Amino acid sequence: MYTQLSDEQQFIQQTAQRFATDELLPFAHLLDKEQLDQGQSNPEQGRAKLLENLSKLADLGFMGLDISSEYGGTEAFSVALTELGRGCASTAVPVSVTNMVAEVIKACGTESQRQNCLPKLCSGDFAVGGLCLTESTAGSDPSGMRCRAVKQGENWLLNGSKLYITSAEYAGLFVVWALTDPEAPKGKGISCFLVPADTPGLSIGKAEQKMGQRGSSTNEVLFEDCCIPADAILGTENQGFKIAVSQLAGGRIGVGSFALGIGLAAMDFAREYIV
Ligand SMILES: Cc1cc2nc3c(=O)[nH]c(=O)nc-3n(C[C@H](O)[C@H](O)[C@H](O)COP(=O)(O)OP(=O)(O)OC[C@H]3O[C@@H](n4cnc5c(N)ncnc54)[C@H](O)[C@@H]3O)c2cc1C
Repeated sequence: MYTQLSDEQQFIQQTAQRFATDELLPFAHLLDKEQLDQGQSNPEQGRAKLLENLSKLADLGFMGLDISSEYGGTEAFSVALTELGRGCASTAVPVSVTNMVAEVIKACGTESQRQNCLPKLCSGDFAVGGLCLTESTAGSDPSGMRCRAVKQGENWLLNGSKLYITSAEYAGLFVVWALTDPEAPKGKGISCFLVPADTPGLSIGKAEQKMGQRGSSTNEVLFEDCCIPADAILGTENQGFKIAVSQLAGGRIGVGSFALGIGLAAMDFAREYIV
């Protein structure tokens, strides 16, 4: 199906293309190599460059690509991610996840949660957002999760761990899924929470070594009696699995879009090699 881009989407696409060519592409290989050489060269340099890229992209409005201008966003997720992926996959991944975080808050949050979180995500006040769904026992089938949230007075206590979390090291805010009714049928007792990264009891665990996108960090996130207020719940109690499923759909668009960008970059390199 051919979709005609609006003038605004074309403008965003061209802006992304220019940024990817001028700011991402010249440093993409260095950023990736810094991580590959961890221990031998200076990984801090790669991390600083990634954070600089993300900050500039927030200034350009790329952290709220499907968020209306009312909350500080624009509206063109897929075309922008394709262009960013073409320049630097390690930068495109956290942009994609941050947009997913913004999207879930827009779709399921209360007006107060939107007002509190979206401007910080879109403006880069939070360097990035993180999504905590996957666990060692819950990957393709997230309903198998074990991370628990238990009500304690006015609060929730989170305990458990999440695996493979993109940008966990520098995320300002996490969307976290946890079991709130372990007796309920599979997938029916899960809730979704907003957890600021500086909440006591939340810590960042081991970093994964990956075969690609090495400039984008992927870590374990640990919760140990992590206390969050009652109003940190996103959407309705025990209905969080529906949010996870809809998020995975959005995530696939992001991954597909920057994967297309990586493919286009491979063609660019091949063309340059041939001529
Ligand atoms: C770079 C990277 C970044 C990530 N970032 C995040 C993040 O930010 N937040 C987050 O929550 N998660 C993240 N993930 C986790 C990702 O969502 C999971 O890796 C994914 O859901 C698959 O889970 P798994 O790795 O446990 O694989 P598994 O579920 O163990 O699957 C392994 C293989 O088995 C196949 N398989 C699984 N079940 C079946 C079945 N019933 N029948 C037939 N085949 C099956 C799968 O298709 C796959 O090929 C990230 C992963 C990577 C690699």
